[in-house]
Formats: sequence, structure tokens, C-alpha cells
Amino acid sequence: MTAVMLCDAHYMPVKEICVEHAVYLLMTGKAEPMYLADGLVPVARLGLAASAVANWGGKLDGLIEGNHFLVPTAIRLHRAIAYRLASLRPSRHLVFKRDKHTCQYCGRHSGPMTLDHVMPASRGGEDTWENLVAACNACNNYKANRTPEEAGMRLASQPRRFVASFNWDIMDKLCLA
Ligand SMILES: [Zn+2]
Repeated sequence: MTAVMLCDAHYMPVKEICVEHAVYLLMTGKAEPMYLADGLVPVARLGLAASAVANWGGKLDGLIEGNHFLVPTAIRLHRAIAYRLASLRPSRHLVFKRDKHTCQYCGRHSGPMTLDHVMPASRGGEDTWENLVAACNACNNYKANRTPEEAGMRLASQPRRFVASFNWDIMDKLCLA
């Protein structure tokens, strides 16, 4: 996937973001392009309606060529903002979101969720994306101070870093904080 370097208002690189994020930031006037284009991304791939593209008006002048979006290699945010806070550390909210509010042990998705340390915190398990999962109360209590293997439980999937491919919720937090 093509990545775009997001820079802060002082032109300091912050992080690489996906093309969709970059377009969103350009489209909403929160950022401006810094350098133009190694590559072309078909507008269709962005999942945006042609009418939306038309509505971009002057904001993307020079960035649309026919049916292609010219990917800036870097964009610059207009405002100095608290996006660093949102470098997506695994909060309770985001882990639940990643796991779709579903217990990773039994698949239950109603009732209160808890945050489970796959390797228990008391045994050195850390607060990382790879070690935190959503679990229902019952599973968390049953598992207690054990690893899933020790408890004879299986994770629905290997917990991974939460990648917000094009998450408007998170983008809003990133951009409006
Ligand atoms: Zn459960």
C-alpha cells in the first residue's frame, strides 16, 4: 500500500498514513500537499463517489488527473494539534473496538467486556496490542492467572496491532483533538 508521510505544522514528519487518510485530510482542508506524486491511485480505489470528488473543488487542484489521484509523498497539517496522543496505544476502548466487542475466548458479544492480559500482568504480561484482548467476565474469571494454554482456552485470533485503515472515528480524534 502506498504510504504518505504526515508532517506537522512545523514540517516535522509525524508518521506514515495511508492514502485514504491523506485524501481525507486534504479534502477537509486540514492538511496541504507538500510534495507531489510518485504514484497514481485510481479514485475508484478510494471508495469515494464521483460526486464527492467533484465537491472537492479547488482543494485538490493539481492532485486529480483524469480518474487518478496524484499521491502526495508528504502532506502538512495546518494546525499544531495533539495527534501524538493518538499514536494508537492500546486503550481499553480501542482494544474492544479492534475485537468488535466480542469475547476472544467464547465469542460472546453481549454484556460487560473486560480487558484480558493474555499473559497475565502479574506474570509480566505487558499492556501491548499483542497481549490485550476483549474477554467476557466469565472467561476472564475462569482464566484468572493463567495463560490460555494453561487454562485450555483458545483465542479467536492472534491479537495484533490495531491498524486504522480508514477509520473516521479515529481520524476525527487525530485531527480535532
Ligand atoms: Zn467469554
